[in-house]
Amino acid sequence: MDAREIAKERCEKLIKLAGAEKDARLSKRYITLARKIAMRHQISLGSKSFCRRCGTVWVPGRTLRVRRSKGATLYICLACNYVRRFPISGKNSR
Ligand SMILES: [Zn+2]
Repeated sequence: MDAREIAKERCEKLIKLAGAEKDARLSKRYITLARKIAMRHQISLGSKSFCRRCGTVWVPGRTLRVRRSKGATLYICLACNYVRRFPISGKNSR
């Protein structure tokens, strides 16, 4: 296992921790840490697991609202109202 893989694992763990954390401030701290590690190791974190603007973990129904609009899925952060569009393309949509 190389350093990058370990870093990726750490990031995933941090995001999970953040999702389970009830304290919003702590939760954001975990995300900040994960992002720092990711940046240093140039790994991409899932863009659907937290808000890029305010760092809040996206828990559907709690901190995130998911809406379908024409040809796209909208992820709306309930903490800062940031809207992220995910176009629904035939191949890559889940
Ligand atoms: Zn946000």
